[in-house]
Amino acid sequence: VWCAYTATRRSRGGARAAGGNGRGDSHLAGCVVDGVLGAIGNTPLIRIRSLSEATGCEILAKAEFLNPGGSVKDRVALQIVQEALAEGRLAAPGGLITEGTAGSTGIALAMVARALGCRCFIAMPDDAAIEKAQTLHALGAEVQRLRPVSIVHPDHPVNVARRRAAAEGPGSVFADQFENLANMRAHVQTGREIWEQTGGRVDAFVSGAGTGGTIAGVSSYLKARDPRVRVFLVDPQGSSLYNKVTRGVLYTREEAEGTRLKNPFDTITEGIGLNRLTANFGEALGRMDGAFRGSDREAVEMAAHLLRADGLFVGSSAAMNCVGAVKAARRLGPGHTVVTLLCDGGQRHLSKFHNPEYLAQWGLAPAAAAADGLEFVE
Ligand code: PMP
Repeated sequence: VWCAYTATRRSRGGARAAGGNGRGDSHLAGCVVDGVLGAIGNTPLIRIRSLSEATGCEILAKAEFLNPGGSVKDRVALQIVQEALAEGRLAAPGGLITEGTAGSTGIALAMVARALGCRCFIAMPDDAAIEKAQTLHALGAEVQRLRPVSIVHPDHPVNVARRRAAAEGPGSVFADQFENLANMRAHVQTGREIWEQTGGRVDAFVSGAGTGGTIAGVSSYLKARDPRVRVFLVDPQGSSLYNKVTRGVLYTREEAEGTRLKNPFDTITEGIGLNRLTANFGEALGRMDGAFRGSDREAVEMAAHLLRADGLFVGSSAAMNCVGAVKAARRLGPGHTVVTLLCDGGQRHLSKFHNPEYLAQWGLAPAAAAADGLEFVE
């Protein structure tokens, strides 16, 4: 399965390199993808009209919500599993893939596991949105919900997932998206797609970071092609990555893990922001040209704006990425091309980020915006 999939993915990349737009051209060329895993990646690059017109820049965003599992994390799950298979660490079919996550990575791993006949175990905090646990169950994953605790606690989902893989023995793997650099390597491909889709005309890449895999992988490809490409982080409230980038404050892993500053209620955005230095984010640090802070207010207003002005229904991290893209465009000035990612769609956020009553509880109901300027981006 792995070899057939890889060959298909290469041929799709080739079709794109020849000047196509990926999906459309590969279809016209009679190129069929091999199974659901073949449909991961090679996402369209969408020009966001309203943001481009408002900033005088080209604001472009990868439509990661079109991956079969619904998020950017399909790329990461596939790469982690591919590498484990290639190195003989994972048995397929039959092996167990474990991860500790409340996010999209669990759903992506559960889907990839199913496609390969593997089993999947996901440990998650019990305050995570119930839809996520339900989706994981529906995908056939075993789910363990745990009281939220610090990463240094043995009952943290990451530690539970690590122990579970070890207990299963050979042929089973702990995905370890925060520390496993396969995560970053998945996004070297994302960077290649951006380069090819823009014909190398990209001035800046902007992204939030959860594990840091996206910003590490994309920046490594783009800077290798052209060191002048600028890379910016956009960081939500409650996260300390902004400080690390702008002030060079680096903690050792031991120090950082002992100081879990992030309170779940510091931000309503999901999947981005962190208060410890992970291996994947560590890879990106030396390639960062700056960072922006993004508030929940800006993310909520941006999501409402994108829906109203462009018909784009996106999740909280995607909205935050667009806030970052506008800030980068303003910093660079008109005439530049700024690229970001739409990590997932709004459907996965109906109980929180796209629930007006939930937003109202936090005083974040979006304003019935005036003529769609971007004044809400500070
Ligand atoms: N958006 C969503 C919805 C996510 O689940 C994640 C991953 N935690 C991110 C953004 C951040 O991406 P990365 O882990 O590559 O930094």
